[in-house]
Amino acid sequence: LFNQVQELKGNIRVMCRVRPVFSEKAEGEVARLTFPDNESESKELEILGREERSSLGTVSRKTHSFTFDRVFGPHSQNQEVFEEISQLVQSALDGYNVCIFCYGQTGSGKTHTMSSEDGMIPRATHQIYETATSLKEKGWEYAMEGSFIEVYNEEIHDLLGSSKDFDKKKHEIKHDEQRKQTVVTGLRSAALDSPDTVESILRHAAANRSVAATKSNERSSRSHSVFILKLVGQNRITGETSEGTLNLVDLAGSERLKQSGAEGDRMKETQSINKSLSCLGDVIAALGQGREGAHIPYRNSKLTYLLQYSLGGNSKTLMFVMASPLEEHLSETLTSLKFATKVHNT
Ligand code: ADP
Ligand code: MG
Repeated sequence: LFNQVQELKGNIRVMCRVRPVFSEKAEGEVARLTFPDNESESKELEILGREERSSLGTVSRKTHSFTFDRVFGPHSQNQEVFEEISQLVQSALDGYNVCIFCYGQTGSGKTHTMSSEDGMIPRATHQIYETATSLKEKGWEYAMEGSFIEVYNEEIHDLLGSSKDFDKKKHEIKHDEQRKQTVVTGLRSAALDSPDTVESILRHAAANRSVAATKSNERSSRSHSVFILKLVGQNRITGETSEGTLNLVDLAGSERLKQSGAEGDRMKETQSINKSLSCLGDVIAALGQGREGAHIPYRNSKLTYLLQYSLGGNSKTLMFVMASPLEEHLSETLTSLKFATKVHNT
């Protein structure tokens, strides 16, 4: 059923998640966000914009309305969010290439949703492990390998590699056109042979991140991280085979970074992030037009080149757009939601 629903709606789905307000905030510091009472059904989000004064001196506020495949309110838990995507995750075992992104400004909840201890990465991995185990009865044997990389300044770093050469080792993206698979050279991968493997993967990645953080403590919000799970299955009864990939992507902060004022390394980071996020938007837009044989600009950034076989074609894509409920973030939040609306409408 899930596959049919997806086919009717196109292959890109977009869900929004609103982060909670943490400390006691004064009324004026919290933006006015509304969604329908019945949160489990909600697909709509309304945001009251800033006060605007007309030439006649009257003050008004514009209402911005958004519709997505699902809107999660500030009280939602990762468990609930995972329930919405579990079928999609599962389809990687059926041989689909699946890509799930978290998009939003720094602090909006991307890492909490994707890479935290109870986020989508460990939940998805555990579910896949369990399903693969239960499919053994039907003759399916899966080889499951996880890798975890960081794309920073248009360079790839291996989050599972040794911390000594984390920053130095060069990795290249190679495409196998025939098999429609991407390979990154020199990556370490971890066989998913126990449900606990993912915890050690996350710990290893966190250790490498903290090494990198001593050089630039904002690095984690200025890089994309991609967890890649390759699933190769063979049925020893029927002889069927399947090859699918699950990509879970925690994107760099989407806040508009000004080119002016930035210098040296910061300037380079800024340009790389702006380029890769806008390139991701371009690729999705080009795919959405769906013209046979149309040029899709995958090669314009490392991220889209890496994900070429998991975006478009026979793949399934989902984007979470993260929204902050704070007034101070209002304009970035509206920018993110507009980007997500464009993706949703393709
Ligand atoms: P990002 O990765 O987008 O920069 P984080 O995921 O690091 O943002 O979130 C910023 C802070 O807010 C973190 O301390 C995180 O744990 C917390 N947080 C974000 N979303 C939620 C949520 N839905 N529920 C509880 N805490 C959250
Ligand atoms: Mg983060």
